[in-house]
Amino acid sequence: MHILRSWEELRKWRNTPSERGLSLGFVPTMGALHAGHLSLVALASEECARVLTSIFVNPTQFNRAEDLALYPRTEDADFDLLRTTSCDAVFIPSVQEIYGASEPGPAPRHYDLGELESVLEGAHRPGHFQGVARILDVFFRRIEPQSAFFGEKDFQQLAVVRRLVETESLGVRIVEGPTHREPDGLAMSSRNLRLTPQARAEAPAIYRELHRLSKTLTPYNWPAELERSVDVLNRCSTLEVEYLEIAHRDRFSPYDGSTDLRLGPWRLFAAVHASGVRLIDNCSIE
Ligand code: AMP
Repeated sequence: MHILRSWEELRKWRNTPSERGLSLGFVPTMGALHAGHLSLVALASEECARVLTSIFVNPTQFNRAEDLALYPRTEDADFDLLRTTSCDAVFIPSVQEIYGASEPGPAPRHYDLGELESVLEGAHRPGHFQGVARILDVFFRRIEPQSAFFGEKDFQQLAVVRRLVETESLGVRIVEGPTHREPDGLAMSSRNLRLTPQARAEAPAIYRELHRLSKTLTPYNWPAELERSVDVLNRCSTLEVEYLEIAHRDRFSPYDGSTDLRLGPWRLFAAVHASGVRLIDNCSIE
Protein backbone atom coordinates (compact mmCIF):
# COMPACT_ATOMS: atom_id res chain seq x y z
CA MET A 1 0.00 0.00 0.00
CA HIS A 2 1.37 3.38 -1.00
CA ILE A 3 1.53 6.07 1.68
CA LEU A 4 1.19 9.47 -0.02
CA ARG A 5 1.72 12.66 2.00
CA SER A 6 1.66 15.30 -0.72
CA TRP A 7 -0.16 16.21 -3.92
CA GLU A 8 3.11 15.55 -5.76
CA GLU A 9 3.33 11.98 -4.41
CA LEU A 10 -0.31 11.43 -5.29
CA ARG A 11 0.20 12.78 -8.81
CA LYS A 12 3.24 10.53 -9.35
CA TRP A 13 1.33 7.44 -8.19
CA ARG A 14 -1.61 8.19 -10.49
CA ASN A 15 0.71 8.87 -13.42
CA THR A 16 2.78 5.70 -13.26
CA PRO A 17 2.18 3.74 -16.48
CA SER A 18 0.61 0.77 -14.64
CA GLU A 19 -1.97 3.07 -12.97
CA ARG A 20 -2.94 5.39 -15.77
CA GLY A 21 -6.52 5.03 -16.98
CA LEU A 22 -7.60 2.70 -14.16
CA SER A 23 -10.85 3.64 -12.41
CA LEU A 24 -10.34 5.15 -8.98
CA GLY A 25 -12.62 4.75 -5.96
CA PHE A 26 -12.09 7.32 -3.22
CA VAL A 27 -12.90 6.85 0.49
CA PRO A 28 -12.41 10.11 2.42
CA THR A 29 -11.99 9.68 6.21
CA MET A 30 -10.64 11.51 9.23
CA GLY A 31 -8.77 8.41 10.44
CA ALA A 32 -9.05 6.47 13.73
CA LEU A 33 -10.37 3.82 11.38
CA HIS A 34 -12.89 1.14 12.29
CA ALA A 35 -14.91 -1.56 10.53
CA GLY A 36 -17.38 1.05 9.19
CA HIS A 37 -14.58 2.76 7.26
CA LEU A 38 -13.19 -0.58 6.07
CA SER A 39 -16.60 -1.60 4.73
CA LEU A 40 -16.48 1.46 2.44
CA VAL A 41 -13.00 0.42 1.25
CA ALA A 42 -14.39 -3.05 0.47
CA LEU A 43 -17.33 -1.51 -1.42
CA ALA A 44 -14.93 0.70 -3.39
CA SER A 45 -12.74 -2.24 -4.38
CA GLU A 46 -15.77 -4.13 -5.69
CA GLU A 47 -16.56 -1.26 -8.03
CA CYS A 48 -13.20 0.28 -8.95
CA ALA A 49 -9.83 -0.96 -10.17
CA ARG A 50 -7.94 1.11 -7.57
CA VAL A 51 -8.91 2.36 -4.11
CA LEU A 52 -7.54 5.51 -2.49
CA THR A 53 -8.38 6.25 1.16
CA SER A 54 -7.66 9.68 2.60
CA ILE A 55 -6.95 10.39 6.25
CA PHE A 56 -7.30 14.08 6.98
CA VAL A 57 -8.71 15.65 10.13
CA ASN A 58 -10.16 18.63 8.31
CA PRO A 59 -10.03 21.70 10.59
CA THR A 60 -12.57 23.69 8.57
CA GLN A 61 -15.42 21.30 9.37
CA PHE A 62 -15.03 21.54 13.16
CA ASN A 63 -17.17 24.23 14.73
CA ARG A 64 -15.59 23.71 18.19
CA ALA A 65 -11.81 24.06 18.65
CA GLU A 66 -11.85 21.59 21.56
CA ASP A 67 -13.51 18.89 19.41
CA LEU A 68 -10.74 19.32 16.80
CA ALA A 69 -7.96 19.21 19.40
CA LEU A 70 -9.36 16.03 20.99
CA TYR A 71 -10.16 14.21 17.73
CA PRO A 72 -8.38 10.80 17.90
CA ARG A 73 -5.31 10.35 15.69
CA THR A 74 -4.05 6.79 15.29
CA GLU A 75 -1.94 6.89 12.13
CA ASP A 76 0.10 3.70 12.55
CA ALA A 77 -2.88 1.60 13.59
CA ASP A 78 -4.81 3.04 10.62
CA PHE A 79 -2.06 1.95 8.19
CA ASP A 80 -2.03 -1.55 9.75
CA LEU A 81 -5.81 -1.82 9.32
CA LEU A 82 -5.74 -0.55 5.74
CA ARG A 83 -3.00 -3.09 4.87
CA THR A 84 -5.51 -5.85 5.74
CA THR A 85 -7.87 -4.50 3.03
CA SER A 86 -7.74 -3.97 -0.71
CA CYS A 87 -6.80 -0.30 -0.29
CA ASP A 88 -4.06 0.54 -2.83
CA ALA A 89 -2.96 3.89 -1.46
CA VAL A 90 -3.58 6.19 1.47
CA PHE A 91 -3.42 9.98 1.10
CA ILE A 92 -2.50 11.55 4.44
CA PRO A 93 -1.62 15.19 3.85
CA SER A 94 -0.81 17.87 6.42
CA VAL A 95 -3.04 20.92 6.96
CA GLN A 96 -0.31 22.98 5.27
CA GLU A 97 -0.40 20.75 2.19
CA ILE A 98 -4.15 21.24 1.80
CA TYR A 99 -4.69 24.83 2.89
CA GLY A 100 -1.23 26.31 2.20
CA ALA A 101 -0.64 27.25 5.86
CA SER A 102 -0.68 25.50 9.24
CA GLU A 103 -4.04 27.19 9.94
CA PRO A 104 -6.61 27.34 7.12
CA GLY A 105 -7.41 30.87 5.94
CA PRO A 106 -10.96 32.17 5.56
CA ALA A 107 -13.19 30.23 3.20
CA PRO A 108 -12.59 31.45 -0.37
CA ARG A 109 -16.28 31.06 -1.19
CA HIS A 110 -19.69 30.07 0.11
CA TYR A 111 -21.38 26.86 -1.12
CA ASP A 112 -25.11 26.96 -1.69
CA LEU A 113 -26.30 24.01 0.36
CA GLY A 114 -29.85 25.31 0.62
CA GLU A 115 -32.04 24.00 3.42
CA LEU A 116 -29.45 21.36 4.38
CA GLU A 117 -27.61 24.03 6.35
CA SER A 118 -30.59 25.10 8.42
CA VAL A 119 -31.86 21.77 9.77
CA LEU A 120 -30.53 19.02 12.07
CA GLU A 121 -26.69 18.90 11.77
CA GLY A 122 -26.74 22.04 9.64
CA ALA A 123 -28.58 24.00 12.34
CA HIS A 124 -26.73 22.48 15.30
CA ARG A 125 -23.19 22.76 13.87
CA PRO A 126 -22.94 26.15 12.14
CA GLY A 127 -20.33 26.14 9.39
CA HIS A 128 -19.79 22.37 9.56
CA PHE A 129 -21.20 21.55 6.13
CA GLN A 130 -19.41 24.53 4.53
CA GLY A 131 -16.16 22.95 5.80
CA VAL A 132 -17.17 19.55 4.44
CA ALA A 133 -18.01 21.09 1.05
CA ARG A 134 -14.73 23.03 1.00
CA ILE A 135 -12.51 20.00 1.54
CA LEU A 136 -14.45 17.70 -0.78
CA ASP A 137 -14.44 20.32 -3.52
CA VAL A 138 -10.62 20.38 -3.28
CA PHE A 139 -10.31 16.58 -3.07
CA PHE A 140 -12.72 15.80 -5.91
CA ARG A 141 -11.19 18.38 -8.28
CA ARG A 142 -7.58 17.35 -7.63
CA ILE A 143 -7.96 13.61 -7.15
CA GLU A 144 -10.57 13.15 -9.91
CA PRO A 145 -12.00 9.85 -8.67
CA GLN A 146 -14.70 8.13 -10.71
CA SER A 147 -16.61 7.20 -7.53
CA ALA A 148 -16.51 8.26 -3.88
CA PHE A 149 -17.89 6.25 -0.97
CA PHE A 150 -19.71 7.59 2.10
CA GLY A 151 -21.52 6.04 5.07
CA GLU A 152 -25.22 6.33 5.88
CA LYS A 153 -24.08 6.92 9.45
CA ASP A 154 -23.63 10.57 8.35
CA PHE A 155 -26.91 10.60 6.45
CA GLN A 156 -27.25 14.36 6.04
CA GLN A 157 -23.61 14.61 4.93
CA LEU A 158 -24.45 12.26 2.06
CA ALA A 159 -27.12 14.72 0.92
CA VAL A 160 -24.61 17.58 1.17
CA VAL A 161 -22.08 15.65 -0.91
CA ARG A 162 -24.66 14.79 -3.58
CA ARG A 163 -25.76 18.41 -3.76
CA LEU A 164 -22.14 19.63 -4.00
CA VAL A 165 -21.37 17.23 -6.84
CA GLU A 166 -24.48 18.31 -8.70
CA THR A 167 -24.21 22.09 -8.23
CA GLU A 168 -20.47 22.13 -8.95
CA SER A 169 -20.72 19.57 -11.80
CA LEU A 170 -17.91 17.56 -10.25
CA GLY A 171 -18.69 14.37 -12.16
CA VAL A 172 -18.08 11.96 -9.27
CA ARG A 173 -20.47 9.07 -8.65
CA ILE A 174 -21.49 9.04 -4.98
CA VAL A 175 -22.04 5.60 -3.43
CA GLU A 176 -23.47 5.02 0.04
CA GLY A 177 -22.71 2.17 2.45
CA PRO A 178 -24.79 1.00 5.44
CA THR A 179 -23.99 1.94 9.05
CA HIS A 180 -21.78 -0.58 10.84
CA ARG A 181 -22.55 -1.15 14.50
CA GLU A 182 -20.89 -2.67 17.54
CA PRO A 183 -22.56 -5.92 18.72
CA ASP A 184 -24.56 -3.87 21.26
CA GLY A 185 -25.94 -1.63 18.50
CA LEU A 186 -23.80 1.48 19.05
CA ALA A 187 -22.91 2.97 15.65
CA MET A 188 -19.16 2.66 15.09
CA SER A 189 -17.47 6.04 15.27
CA SER A 190 -13.92 7.30 15.74
CA ARG A 191 -15.31 9.40 18.58
CA ASN A 192 -16.28 6.25 20.52
CA LEU A 193 -12.58 6.03 21.49
CA ARG A 194 -13.11 9.11 23.66
CA LEU A 195 -16.04 7.73 25.67
CA THR A 196 -15.56 7.08 29.40
CA PRO A 197 -16.31 3.45 30.41
CA GLN A 198 -19.65 4.58 31.88
CA ALA A 199 -20.59 6.49 28.71
CA ARG A 200 -19.55 3.52 26.53
CA ALA A 201 -21.85 1.32 28.63
CA GLU A 202 -24.77 3.75 28.31
CA ALA A 203 -24.34 4.91 24.68
CA PRO A 204 -25.99 1.79 23.10
CA ALA A 205 -29.27 3.19 24.47
CA ILE A 206 -29.18 5.70 21.58
CA TYR A 207 -29.73 3.04 18.91
CA ARG A 208 -31.97 1.01 21.24
CA GLU A 209 -34.35 3.99 21.39
CA LEU A 210 -34.10 4.73 17.65
CA HIS A 211 -34.86 1.09 16.89
CA ARG A 212 -37.77 1.00 19.36
CA LEU A 213 -39.20 4.18 17.85
CA SER A 214 -38.81 2.86 14.31
CA LYS A 215 -41.18 0.02 15.22
CA THR A 216 -43.71 1.85 17.36
CA LEU A 217 -44.21 5.34 15.90
CA THR A 218 -47.59 6.24 14.41
CA PRO A 219 -49.01 9.59 13.20
CA TYR A 220 -50.87 9.69 16.55
CA ASN A 221 -48.30 8.73 19.17
CA TRP A 222 -45.12 10.25 17.72
CA PRO A 223 -44.77 13.40 19.90
CA ALA A 224 -45.26 11.41 23.11
CA GLU A 225 -43.00 8.57 21.97
CA LEU A 226 -40.19 10.93 20.99
CA GLU A 227 -40.49 12.61 24.37
CA ARG A 228 -40.39 9.25 26.11
CA SER A 229 -37.16 8.30 24.32
CA VAL A 230 -35.56 11.65 25.13
CA ASP A 231 -36.45 11.02 28.80
CA VAL A 232 -35.02 7.49 28.73
CA LEU A 233 -31.73 8.79 27.28
CA ASN A 234 -31.46 11.84 29.52
CA ARG A 235 -31.99 9.64 32.58
CA CYS A 236 -28.67 7.87 31.78
CA SER A 237 -26.08 9.68 33.87
CA THR A 238 -23.62 10.32 31.00
CA LEU A 239 -26.10 11.08 28.17
CA GLU A 240 -27.66 14.36 27.11
CA VAL A 241 -29.87 14.58 24.03
CA GLU A 242 -29.17 17.48 21.65
CA TYR A 243 -31.96 16.49 19.26
CA LEU A 244 -34.10 13.47 18.46
CA GLU A 245 -36.31 14.13 15.44
CA ILE A 246 -38.25 12.61 12.59
CA ALA A 247 -37.28 14.26 9.31
CA HIS A 248 -37.68 13.82 5.56
CA ARG A 249 -34.89 11.61 4.24
CA ASP A 250 -34.12 13.95 1.29
CA ARG A 251 -35.17 17.43 2.38
CA PHE A 252 -34.66 16.90 6.13
CA SER A 253 -37.80 18.92 6.90
CA PRO A 254 -39.43 17.94 10.22
CA TYR A 255 -42.37 15.50 10.34
CA ASP A 256 -45.65 17.21 11.26
CA GLY A 257 -48.01 14.26 11.67
CA SER A 258 -50.08 14.97 8.55
CA THR A 259 -48.98 11.93 6.50
CA ASP A 260 -48.49 8.22 7.10
CA LEU A 261 -45.15 7.57 8.78
CA ARG A 262 -44.54 4.09 7.48
CA LEU A 263 -45.20 4.66 3.80
CA GLY A 264 -43.54 8.05 3.72
CA PRO A 265 -39.95 9.14 3.26
CA TRP A 266 -39.32 9.62 6.99
CA ARG A 267 -36.28 8.82 9.06
CA LEU A 268 -35.17 9.21 12.67
CA PHE A 269 -32.15 11.36 13.48
CA ALA A 270 -30.38 11.83 16.81
CA ALA A 271 -27.44 13.76 18.24
CA VAL A 272 -26.55 12.86 21.82
CA HIS A 273 -23.68 13.95 24.03
CA ALA A 274 -22.09 11.04 25.91
CA SER A 275 -19.65 12.15 28.61
CA GLY A 276 -19.21 15.31 26.52
CA VAL A 277 -18.55 13.42 23.25
CA ARG A 278 -21.06 14.27 20.54
CA LEU A 279 -22.47 11.15 18.83
CA ILE A 280 -24.93 11.04 15.93
CA ASP A 281 -27.05 8.20 14.59
CA ASN A 282 -30.07 7.67 12.35
CA CYS A 283 -32.48 4.93 11.40
CA SER A 284 -35.23 4.25 8.86
CA ILE A 285 -38.81 3.90 10.05
CA GLU A 286 -39.93 0.34 9.40
P1 AMP B 1 -15.21 9.97 9.37
O1 AMP B 1 -13.82 9.42 9.45
O2 AMP B 1 -15.99 9.85 10.64
O3 AMP B 1 -15.25 11.35 8.75
O4 AMP B 1 -15.98 9.03 8.36
C1 AMP B 1 -15.48 8.77 7.08
C2 AMP B 1 -16.54 8.02 6.29
O5 AMP B 1 -16.88 6.81 6.97
C3 AMP B 1 -17.85 8.83 6.16
O6 AMP B 1 -18.39 8.61 4.87
C4 AMP B 1 -18.72 8.20 7.23
O7 AMP B 1 -20.10 8.32 6.96
C5 AMP B 1 -18.27 6.75 7.18
N1 AMP B 1 -18.57 6.08 8.45
C6 AMP B 1 -18.31 6.54 9.69
N2 AMP B 1 -18.81 5.68 10.62
C7 AMP B 1 -19.40 4.68 9.93
C8 AMP B 1 -20.10 3.49 10.31
N3 AMP B 1 -20.30 3.17 11.58
N4 AMP B 1 -20.56 2.68 9.33
C9 AMP B 1 -20.38 3.00 8.02
N5 AMP B 1 -19.72 4.09 7.59
C10 AMP B 1 -19.24 4.93 8.53
